[in-house]
Amino acid sequence: MQTMRGETAGEGAVKILLDMDDLPRAWYNILPDLPSPLPPPLHPGTKEPVGPEAFEPIFPKEIIRQEMSGNATEPIPDELREAYLRLGRPTPMYRAKRLEAFLKTPARIYYKREDLSPVGSHKPNTAIAQAYFARKEGVENYTTETGAGQWGSAVALATNYFGMTAKVFMVRVSYDQKPYRKHLMRLFGAEVYPSPSDQTSYGRKLREKSPDNPGSLGIAISEALEAAVTTPNTKYSIGSVLNHVLMHQTVIGLEALQQFELADVEPDYMVGAVGGGSNFGGFTYPMIGERLHGRSETRFIAVEPESVPSMTAGRYEYDFGDTAGMTPLIKMFTLGHDFMPSPIHAGGLRYHGSAPTLSVLLDAGIVEPRAVPQLTTFQAAELFAKTEGLIPAPETAHAIRGAIDLALEAKKTGEAKVIAFNYSGHGLLDMEGYAQYLAGNLGNNGHNGGSGTH
Ligand SMILES: *Cc1c(COP(=O)(O)O)cnc(C)c1O
Repeated sequence: MQTMRGETAGEGAVKILLDMDDLPRAWYNILPDLPSPLPPPLHPGTKEPVGPEAFEPIFPKEIIRQEMSGNATEPIPDELREAYLRLGRPTPMYRAKRLEAFLKTPARIYYKREDLSPVGSHKPNTAIAQAYFARKEGVENYTTETGAGQWGSAVALATNYFGMTAKVFMVRVSYDQKPYRKHLMRLFGAEVYPSPSDQTSYGRKLREKSPDNPGSLGIAISEALEAAVTTPNTKYSIGSVLNHVLMHQTVIGLEALQQFELADVEPDYMVGAVGGGSNFGGFTYPMIGERLHGRSETRFIAVEPESVPSMTAGRYEYDFGDTAGMTPLIKMFTLGHDFMPSPIHAGGLRYHGSAPTLSVLLDAGIVEPRAVPQLTTFQAAELFAKTEGLIPAPETAHAIRGAIDLALEAKKTGEAKVIAFNYSGHGLLDMEGYAQYLAGNLGNNGHNGGSGTH
């Protein structure tokens, strides 16, 4: 296979493919490499660090072990590698030659195709891993929350694959207004409830008070947690923020390292969009590890919406992970757990905080944050569609905006920089946002009546 790869490799290649054998056999764990130790989660009452047992009612034991692991790597079991292979890994890396030509930039731009999973985003990389480890422990059901439905779709795919059931609490206004991912989840056999629902005592209480409560991600999380702890053989699956989630996502960056080598490039910049930080961390952490060991000079640019500026305007402090204040306190860059993000179309980026590991790296100046406004982000998405032929998710468009801005800076200075970004998902189920963009109705910070979350 070496010859086939050889043909696609080298500096001029437009598409860098990996063989099945190149699929990583272990995830990269950044915890032992962090420049300062990760501050532990604290009990909100006593302010004492919480131990692993505090998480046992909601997470499988192996997931808790991974969350706290100090090992440099964690093995990917064969059965899970097979699932990764079947569901689209390894993913290709493309060079954006047509975008480069349009921008007339000397920079070279590469992007990693995480939109090629069955549900169109990077999210199955962890959903499948979580379902695999849960099933091995005899867990039969997963609960979770979802906003617009990307995370719920990944959990539905993963639980079905490993013979589990899923109960998904979907923010009611998305359930009513963005129906397609709800159907997608049900095709995989998941139960989907509009939240607040009649399935939990918390949901019933809210519905009694106001029957047309539109719901929120915070409410949906609270319902998913309640359903997990009150149903036998049931655990809760989380889509971003926590260490084990970002570690599972490092399959992206471990493949990317091999693809940079095949293309014979050293990226000057690696760029990603940040909601909770899972696709950014997955893409960049293996290379950040290289830099922390003095083997790389790559810079890491994390892009967020101007209207949800947790990294660029948030404070680095202990806060709740959820809106209702049910989780332990975690130290992260945060806008406050009661921050109400404006209803931008990049629903997956409407989270008030950033992953704790990413926050350590931001605090140390190793990851550099940038905030971009909504309208120019959609303009970047349109340009990408017209040049590269792909329609990105609004979340992904933030990474594209960041990469284009770097390519334009390189044009000014005349430097042939190498810029790589993570193409976290496609936008084919996000046409409502594009419709409003095309109609000229899109503001920089919000739109009328969106509900999205992740
Ligand atoms: C959910 C999502 C994101 C944001 O979540 P992270 O955990 O920060 O990666 C970005 N892009 C897409 C396509 C998503 O579905």
